[in-house]
Amino acid sequence: MTGLADIQARMEQALLDAGRARDSARLIAVSKVQPADRVQAVLDQGHRVFGENRVQEAQGRWPPFRERYDGIELHLIGPLQTNKIKPALDLFDTIQTLDRDRLARKLATEIQARGVAPGLLVQINIGDEPQKAGIATDKADAFIDACRRDYELPISGVMAIPPVDDSPRHHFQALAQIAHRNGLDEISMGMSADFEIAIAEGATMIRVGSAIFGARDPSGMT
Ligand SMILES: *Cc1c(COP(=O)(O)O)cnc(C)c1O
Repeated sequence: MTGLADIQARMEQALLDAGRARDSARLIAVSKVQPADRVQAVLDQGHRVFGENRVQEAQGRWPPFRERYDGIELHLIGPLQTNKIKPALDLFDTIQTLDRDRLARKLATEIQARGVAPGLLVQINIGDEPQKAGIATDKADAFIDACRRDYELPISGVMAIPPVDDSPRHHFQALAQIAHRNGLDEISMGMSADFEIAIAEGATMIRVGSAIFGARDPSGMT
């Protein structure tokens, strides 16, 4: 089953199965690299929360949609370079990929200048994979602490992408533990292939792309 309505139904069932409240997790529709007509179809069905992984791609697409649809909420779920902080803060309501000290410091400076902060999640490299973005698991607590105390950033949660070649459940459990022991409410985990497991393990945001929009075809983007 795919498409927005099917994913919403599966999400609701997963929450029910887990004994969780219906509104205790949110669906982020990951629209990266999807053609505009597919994104518009999901907007026309009433969905308003979207995730993009590149600042530049999102900058081209979302301001025009925002003129036509009220209440759009955008999450940055891909790496943020420090030279893109300003456009990212102009565009995104939540940044899920805070993962290093230099980025935290520069974000804090810009947020202070603006007097308004986006939602902020710390990305954890939950499988401790050498090539992957995210703060190492053994540095997560200290980093979250530094973000809050040294930079006064209002961190609301954690996000992770588990290794593709491993079963996700124990990684989801590890991420939930990091959130709980740091007193953080938001846990962003679970994608098309595993969002039901993520909900069972406490996800408060799931990030689902291809199961809503169909397979991504980078050459087909408009
Ligand atoms: C692309 C992406 C997703 C969605 O992946 P699907 O498998 O298409 O659901 C979720 N999270 C991140 C960080 C992504 O880059």
